[in-house]
Amino acid sequence: MTKQASAAAKDLAATGVVGAQIAWADNNGIPRSRIVPIAGLAAAATRGIGTTSLFAVFDTHDVITFGHPGLATPSGDVRLVPVIDRLRRLAGQRALAWAPGRQVAADGSPWPYCQRTALENVVSAASRRGYEIRAGFEMEFAVAPAGAPDIASAPGHHGPAYSPHALIPLDDFVATVLHDFEANGLRLNQFHAEYGLAQLELSLTATDPVSAADDQLLARQTLHAAAHRHGLRLSFAPIVSPEAAGNGWHLHTSVWRKGRNLLAGLPDGEGAGYLAGLLRDLPALTAVTAPSVPSTLRLRPGYFASAYAFWGVENREAPLRYVPGSQLLGDDHANVELKPCDASANPYLALAAVITAGVAGLAEGLSLPDPVAEDPGTWTEDRRAAAGIARLPDTPDEQDRALASSDRMREALGEELLGAFRAVRASDRRWAADRTVEDIVAAHLWRY
Ligand code: GLU
Ligand code: MG
Repeated sequence: MTKQASAAAKDLAATGVVGAQIAWADNNGIPRSRIVPIAGLAAAATRGIGTTSLFAVFDTHDVITFGHPGLATPSGDVRLVPVIDRLRRLAGQRALAWAPGRQVAADGSPWPYCQRTALENVVSAASRRGYEIRAGFEMEFAVAPAGAPDIASAPGHHGPAYSPHALIPLDDFVATVLHDFEANGLRLNQFHAEYGLAQLELSLTATDPVSAADDQLLARQTLHAAAHRHGLRLSFAPIVSPEAAGNGWHLHTSVWRKGRNLLAGLPDGEGAGYLAGLLRDLPALTAVTAPSVPSTLRLRPGYFASAYAFWGVENREAPLRYVPGSQLLGDDHANVELKPCDASANPYLALAAVITAGVAGLAEGLSLPDPVAEDPGTWTEDRRAAAGIARLPDTPDEQDRALASSDRMREALGEELLGAFRAVRASDRRWAADRTVEDIVAAHLWRY
């Protein structure tokens, strides 16, 4: 590792890179980082750099909650180790290289609060059962001029939705994004003007889960840097105004065995259990994948954000939108999109939660109910009840109850990390208790 890191550092230094940024995402989905001089990269790769263990109990507002027994005092340190295999130069911040970080205990052993390690463990467990997961995020965000206090008063484009005309004022920014994604090794599927207020969307090509989470983290930074260069600012917040469509960071996954995509041809076939597992755990799952106070504001019926627990084939109101393969795209294209997922989710934990729920459903051979083609939000309460379709938890308290009672989410995150995660959520809840929706939206707008 030292050799690989030294060689990489030397090459980077020769091209003008002076520092390496080591990044991770905390329990609020907020990226955090440390920079080491490029000459210190090899030492960091071997010994890590010291950071506080309290990052695991930072809440969304940078308040440290000491509300988790394992992390209740100001004492403690962990080591942040850059993952050298994923090191790359930042196209939009030319003096810096970037690598995702793994947090380990002071003695180098695994640290139970490291979100990346939690996902690695879940991926290994799935792989021991013979399953391989492919994953990719879609990212919606709103654009405004730099310095704009919010999106509503200074939208960075005026539509029409999906129109090339909406993008013309953003031409230079768009070109930089396309260039920098490529240069940063991020594989983009597509980019367009979305239908929300000043909203844009791009999607990343599916890859292995840990890389998908790393890529999502790097994509955020690449986008922010590109926006900064062009006098813009971006909001990745789940909701950017009380009325406008929110920003979903939909998570697409597929599950494979021996090179075969098990999600091909649903509702029949082995992969039905995966989707059924996700459906069974949706309330607890959503507490991890859409975990913030503004996340719960986003999950309203009629916004394509998902509000009720059901699945459908290409149903855009469904939290679980099954995307079938086709004659044109082949069976391997099949995947399931989780809509209740956003930038306030830690991408590693979101994937750990999804894979644990899905693989459990597969292992148990769960069967799927019939898909729903309509929007149950337009049905009567009685009709939904008869169809067994419930509202997704839409308050932080309900989310916490669902999370606390889920053995599979405990398995996905591990006892300690789940405890810290819930303590952080409780801190956010207390912060929001007496605030208006407008205040909540404003306070989260630029956090991610
Ligand atoms: N903006 C919607 C959301 O909050 C998603 C719209 C779409 O289907 O792409 O998730
Ligand atoms: Mg979209």
